[in-house]
Amino acid sequence: MSTSTENDLLARVKGGLFIAGQWVPSESGKTFDVLDPATGNVIKSIADASATDARAAMDAAAAAQDSWAATAPRVRGEILRRTFDLLQERADEFALLMTLEMGKPLAEARGEVTYGGEFLRWFSEEAVRISGRYGTNPEGTGRMIVTQRPVGPCYLVTPWNFPLAMATRKIAPALAAGCTVIIKPAALTPLTTLHLVALLEEAGLPKGVVNVLTSTSSAQVSEPILSDHRLRKLSFTGSTPVGVALLKQAADGVLRTSMELGGNAPFVVFDDADLDKAVDGAMIAKFRNIGQACTAANRFIVHESVADEFAARVAERVKAMKVGRGTEEGVTIGPLIDDKAVAKVGELVSDAVSRGATLLTGGHAIDGEGSFYAPTVIAGVPAGSDILIEEIFGPVLSIVTFSGENEAVRLANSTEYGLVGYVFTRDLARAHRMIDAIDTGMMGINVGVVSNAAAPFGGLKQSGLGREGGAEGIHEYLSTKYTLIPDPTA
Ligand code: NAD
Repeated sequence: MSTSTENDLLARVKGGLFIAGQWVPSESGKTFDVLDPATGNVIKSIADASATDARAAMDAAAAAQDSWAATAPRVRGEILRRTFDLLQERADEFALLMTLEMGKPLAEARGEVTYGGEFLRWFSEEAVRISGRYGTNPEGTGRMIVTQRPVGPCYLVTPWNFPLAMATRKIAPALAAGCTVIIKPAALTPLTTLHLVALLEEAGLPKGVVNVLTSTSSAQVSEPILSDHRLRKLSFTGSTPVGVALLKQAADGVLRTSMELGGNAPFVVFDDADLDKAVDGAMIAKFRNIGQACTAANRFIVHESVADEFAARVAERVKAMKVGRGTEEGVTIGPLIDDKAVAKVGELVSDAVSRGATLLTGGHAIDGEGSFYAPTVIAGVPAGSDILIEEIFGPVLSIVTFSGENEAVRLANSTEYGLVGYVFTRDLARAHRMIDAIDTGMMGINVGVVSNAAAPFGGLKQSGLGREGGAEGIHEYLSTKYTLIPDPTA
């Protein structure tokens, strides 16, 4: 990938705030730098929104709400569909942009364009399928009408790890339902959202329906929005502690909320598993996105009779991984998002090793430019190690063993999180027992990735509230209205 291609793309990304259909600088005049985590170099400076900008975005979203809600569902759907088509035409540049600002290998960034784009297509189709109910009441004296209407203006807050998909997974259902939005992407990877919103604009989105705030002051920018009585909904994807703080703020306005929070996924390998499939699944579930996914397998819980073979086979695969800048041919492990992330992963590995875990490969940061950590496998991780309790968010595969099914379930469920679980077994009855027994919102049986725009994505326990995608996704942005009328034929 030539640097001139990269520079040309970065020059075309709009660097302002998008408020009421205008690209504008922050009223404070402030900007901030976006870095390439593979080099540490500044790739673009963009507007740094203030609380005043946030109020302007709130005004714009509120002003556009009624006319957007009154826009025909087919028209709303077609704008999303046109955006999907434009995204397909520009798939390569969106992939490159994500690799530049977030670091994931280009092939994975292309995969995210496919996955993220599907939310635009799926919800373009859902926009025209919003339905209700009509029936006679049990007494036979009246007719009951149940309709769905848009919740109203929404505040969407997204993380840095999937810059496109986390934005489309919220924007598309909100727009399909007839809601206007203010979106605040993470300051580490804001460029993809800006570029996406330029596509929506090109696809004919009316002014004020989507507003974008990029900012290094998340709390200051969010406060005036969350405390504004015109806001009706908060949809957040990010860490559990920030989610909890925002839920408390949302309580004051009795806001509808959707919260996609952290994960600590168990990956259980039974002694009857097809080990080829388990190893393939492990590589995807662990190393996709450099391990920086809420759905990343965090704890490999492997039957003692196959643990050594499983560990040896994954270690062999991990040793063959190519680490480097995501734009380079053949790279499978890019940088972590920043040096803080490298330090945190290093601490988790040191803690486990100091307690007696065996390091099979990796286990160190990589010197030189950028924020790289070597892909790592550790086995025999003792109970109580931090790495089993916290989200690793890095390329470290950590293995514990079990001997019986009940023990596997107990280990899988011994976390405050409950986003996704992976189970590898050839026994269909056991697979069904695991689906019932493991406390997560999603399960993969003999697969290492489950995400799909057509599926309800979301977690239990401290992993969140609500579901994104699937038939459920649009309901997060709709409220139910019930009407009774006397029986018109009486
Ligand atoms: P984060 O919680 O630090 O930040 C998420 C977003 O919240 C960012 O836009 C950030 O700027 C904003 N934010 C931070 N503090 C805020 C405040 N006080 N007020 C308002 N906004 C604030 O998370 P992150 O580091 O960007 O992302 C990683 C986390 O996201 C991990 O825990 C991961 O598991 C989670 N995640 C969850 C899902 C899911 O669907 N469940 C998907 C992707 C990531």
